[in-house]
Amino acid sequence: MTKALIVGGGIAGLSTAWALARRGVQVELFEQGSLPNPRASSYDEHRITRHAYGAMEGYAHLMPEAFRVWESLWQAIGTSHYEPCGAVYFLRHDDGWYAGMSRSLTAMGIGFRDIPLDDVERRFPMVRADGLQRVVSTDGAGMLFPVRILTDLVVLLGRLGVTLRTGTRVSEVDPERGRVVADGVAHQGDVVIVAAGAWADRLVPGLRGVGVPSRQAVLYLSPPPDLAEAWASAPVMLELGAESGLYTLPPRRGTRLKIGDHVFSRTGDPDGDRVANAHDLERLWPAARAAYRDFDRYSVLEPKACFYTVTEHEEFLVHPTGAAGWLISACSGHGFKLGSLMGDLVARAITGEMAAADVTELAAGRVLHPSWREAVAA
Ligand SMILES: Cc1cc2nc3c(=O)[nH]c(=O)nc-3n(C[C@H](O)[C@H](O)[C@H](O)COP(=O)(O)OP(=O)(O)OC[C@H]3O[C@@H](n4cnc5c(N)ncnc54)[C@H](O)[C@@H]3O)c2cc1C
Repeated sequence: MTKALIVGGGIAGLSTAWALARRGVQVELFEQGSLPNPRASSYDEHRITRHAYGAMEGYAHLMPEAFRVWESLWQAIGTSHYEPCGAVYFLRHDDGWYAGMSRSLTAMGIGFRDIPLDDVERRFPMVRADGLQRVVSTDGAGMLFPVRILTDLVVLLGRLGVTLRTGTRVSEVDPERGRVVADGVAHQGDVVIVAAGAWADRLVPGLRGVGVPSRQAVLYLSPPPDLAEAWASAPVMLELGAESGLYTLPPRRGTRLKIGDHVFSRTGDPDGDRVANAHDLERLWPAARAAYRDFDRYSVLEPKACFYTVTEHEEFLVHPTGAAGWLISACSGHGFKLGSLMGDLVARAITGEMAAADVTELAAGRVLHPSWREAVAA
């Protein structure tokens, strides 16, 4: 393997480029926008990372290795873009989340504990305690800061000699020959990796209808002054309801308070605008009002629309697409924390360190035991 072509400069493409360049592979990366690209799913102020994955235990068991790859990135760039502020889960409904979470966190030695319901209002004065069934605080969680990570990765890749082609949209991919066409010009590699986020199904026909672009809304907020202090020291907060799933990232290290919901629209064109309209926000408002006291007193700083791909069971699709092609479609709203690991695993498969089928299974969250690393290495 001497030359890899990568389509897409989000966390998946940049991480794959870094993992391959570290292994001595020559890399050329094509990005239709700038690097980083504000229209990419990966581009945001903060993203949640955590070991607790509820019933999706295969993903929980990937997290120690994901944390390890992030740590090696912090070493390479000389700074950490991780804030270990913990995560608290507010359960208004439980369809197996607690059982899966407690099994996997216990197996990994990560701490978690219940917060008594009668202590919730004191510790979280912004939360509406009525209707809560259980509140669980978990360790091994916090926030990653994507804009800073992407920017530092781009600088690192430049230093490693990766060719970065910005403003260059790939129109054709030949996964049998390792070839792409960008702006009418053909480029030849030994392998081509499509990491094109919500646009990937335009280049990989097999993804159509399977990994579906989904327009999602988030709100950046300024809390009322009397709650500002509570928010400044808040952990990552996740609401688990029967109909909705709300996630909230507190303002830390120069970021804004952000809330979003984990209900997929499964519609939209990723070339579309990035301003959330009333229709985009029609689920988020009632969910936020149900979760937080006095929500109408918060000032909206920015209503934003974002795009990502969603699969039926929220699994990642990471697999060869031909004799010289790979797809990395790692999203369904939870792919940032695992993006650096996905890039590393695909690089391991491309350079023959791991079997491609093992990478596909791990990425799909189907390997349910932490011993996968030893098994794969054996
Ligand atoms: C609102 C929101 C909240 C989220 N919250 C979390 C979270 O808390 N924790 C978490 O782990 N994950 C979270 N995610 C998911 C995570 O952000 C994504 O899974 C991840 O960023 C996907 O990265 P990617 O590299 O696959 O795609 P992208 O970041 O979208 O990158 C794809 C890139 O490919 C480029 N491209 C596409 N087509 C072409 C082409 N033809 N030619 C050249 N370039 C092309 C695009 O311009 C883009 O830059 C969230 C996502 C969103 C949108």
